[in-house]
Amino acid sequence: MEVVDALIRVIVCGASGRMGSEVIRAVCREPDMELVGAVDPAQAGSDAGVVAGLKPLGVPVVEDIGTLLGQTQADVMVDFTTPHAAPGNARTAIAYGVRPVIGTTGINEADQKEVEDLCNRRRLGGVIAPNFAIGAVLMMRFAATAAKFFPAVEIIELHHDGKLDAPSGTALTTAELISRARETTTYEVAKPRVEKLAGVRGGEFLKGIRIHSVRLPGLVAHQEVIFGGDGQTLTIRHDSISRASFMPGVVLAIRRVVELDHLVYGLDRLIFG
Ligand code: NAP
Repeated sequence: MEVVDALIRVIVCGASGRMGSEVIRAVCREPDMELVGAVDPAQAGSDAGVVAGLKPLGVPVVEDIGTLLGQTQADVMVDFTTPHAAPGNARTAIAYGVRPVIGTTGINEADQKEVEDLCNRRRLGGVIAPNFAIGAVLMMRFAATAAKFFPAVEIIELHHDGKLDAPSGTALTTAELISRARETTTYEVAKPRVEKLAGVRGGEFLKGIRIHSVRLPGLVAHQEVIFGGDGQTLTIRHDSISRASFMPGVVLAIRRVVELDHLVYGLDRLIFG
């Protein structure tokens, strides 16, 4: 495996999006990283720095990752695009020996598995993380701990109205972790005898874990996990109030992925091992 000993050369897919432009600003702040490419059909031809609200960087935004990697050496590709675009971007990056760090959510399991297999076969690092906010990772860990004591739980996730997928990847991962932590315990969800509005009790995940998705302008990314017990409730809540909240996690993943020889799923694996 190639050892990266100089600046980590980063390309950003989805460069002109809400997350992609934040990633460009974060990469430009890090002394051990260099932005060497930016991909986004929406702003092809523009300077990546200008797109991210910085001074010009001399890095043009291009339409297609394949063309870029044919001309540019890179160590890491960060992807915040769409569930449709991200698997193809990852396949191309891996073919060029570039490690994918994928934050795009809503990618189906088969595509995730394919990206994982491609990385592992080439002994190339990779990260797929549905939530790069360190506070959210802690929220999920605390929820998994509480689940051992409180079998009754509901998850409410709240996001901006531009989010394409529902429920969020974080809500699904939280439900998965809670379900695993409860092991043999199942919980019969209280259902209303009369449901006056279809879907009003949210969607049911494994073992009776209900998820409710709220979409409103003004929100960024928020989640509440509410546990109920006899005479008590426990609420664990995390709020990303700006997209800057995701950047320490993204920067950590860029640094760690160059040391890995396989794909890791979830920021928690990078933080807690
Ligand atoms: P966004 O503002 O819509 O940005 C996505 C950008 O990707 C758009 O500019 C889009 O261009 C571009 N794009 C589409 N196809 C592309 C391709 N093949 N190559 C390169 N760029 C392409 O969305 P966002 O709010 O930044 O969110 C992006 C993703 O990150 C979503 O899946 C979201 O759920 C996820 N997210 C993850 C985290 C996390 O912590 N993991 C946090 C926040 C958001 P067009 O507009 O022309 O399609």
